[in-house]
Amino acid sequence: MALEIQEGVDLTPLNTFGVPAKARALVIVHSVEEALVLAEKHKEWGPYFFLGGGSNILFTRDVEETLVKVEIPGREVVDDGPDGTYVEAGAGEEWHPFVAWTLSKGFPGLENLALIPGTVGGAPVQNIGAYGLELKDRFHSVEVLDVKEGTLKRLFSPDLRFGYRHSLFKEEGAKHLLILRVGVFLPKPWVPVLEYPDLRKALASTDDPTAEDIFSAVMAIRRHKLPDPAATGNAGSFFKNPVVDEAVYQDLLKEHPGLPGYAAGEGKVKLSAAWIIDRLGWKGKTLGRAGVAPTHALVLVNVGGATGQEILELALRIREDVERAFGIRLEFEPTIY
Ligand code: FAD
Ligand code: NAP
Repeated sequence: MALEIQEGVDLTPLNTFGVPAKARALVIVHSVEEALVLAEKHKEWGPYFFLGGGSNILFTRDVEETLVKVEIPGREVVDDGPDGTYVEAGAGEEWHPFVAWTLSKGFPGLENLALIPGTVGGAPVQNIGAYGLELKDRFHSVEVLDVKEGTLKRLFSPDLRFGYRHSLFKEEGAKHLLILRVGVFLPKPWVPVLEYPDLRKALASTDDPTAEDIFSAVMAIRRHKLPDPAATGNAGSFFKNPVVDEAVYQDLLKEHPGLPGYAAGEGKVKLSAAWIIDRLGWKGKTLGRAGVAPTHALVLVNVGGATGQEILELALRIREDVERAFGIRLEFEPTIY
């Protein structure tokens, strides 16, 4: 099967930060068969770098590897049993329409993850999470292609080392694994996830909220709080919430009363990076053409014409400031290329 290689491709429209970068070579794969050609051609074309919707990446330079954009389509209810429904989708499907489709078919379970940009294939990479639900809570398996060996494999939850905004796919040794299809399992009976204060508040006057109610509420809150990448370039949260020992949290509280902390298991506490960044006065601030969203301290934005380097510079300044004032080193969430 002939795969077309495009040369010198402008990546500005292919990343939600809207920062400029070029791909030396770009290949778009539309099917598993086309993906297998990547393995055949690995010696000639490799190494590869994979791209989905570009909503969790910051390009700070041109891409030297052959960039593989995954556009494999397809959505399928594979099995609907008494304990739950097994659904699969191609890695190139957009995540949010996939969530909407599962609901329209009568299979709730993904509603808290509404309106997250990007592809189905990008979702397991950082174990997407929002409003008290993570992909790992509904994950079944992924079909991957080892582009070096040319082998197709199915990987299950334990293989993927899912953690807070983490999976195997973020680790150096797994950069040759191309996600082709993702399977989720939506358990029966459906149980709503309503722990997050914003969601509770939005649904306070709704008795026994349905999955559709949660889906709509999450969309409304997100539209209100988050900048739309179509208007203002961003990649969602730029910093992960730091997870520290309970004792560290107690010490920080003495110095910074009100610092929010959430139990994260095994004596650990998840701190609110947004609160810390806001406390240090960064919310709404700009540094040249890069800025911190006025409505959300975790979201770095392209104010207009910023380069990836400028966004990274702002992120590093914030990280330095936080380390100096709180003794905590923030981790970046998007892939920095
Ligand atoms: P990309 O940005 O294209 O890629 C991200 C990483 O995944 C890269 O390292 C890439 O190499 C790798 N990758 C992508 N596709 C594949 C594949 N098929 N095989 C192997 N590797 C691959 N994230 C959350 O967790 N929760 C949120 O609530 C959330 N809200 C957001 C809100 C906004 C406004 C924005 C812009 C982003 C938000 N994000 C959120 C981040 C982002 O949407 C998710 O991480 C999304 O899953 C990224 O998918 P993508 O296809 O765009 O991945
Ligand atoms: P929020 O609801 O205002 O909450 C602020 C922070 O407190 C969040 O970071 C959240 O952690 C944490 N939190 C709140 N209630 C919690 C609870 N009951 N248990 C544990 N942790 C709790 O957050 P927001 O910024 O408006 O975002 C809402 C949700 O969407 C969050 O889950 C957030 O992660 C997600 N989101 C993610 C991105 C991204 O790019 N990754 C972008 C926008 C929104 P968590 O972040 O760990 O959930």
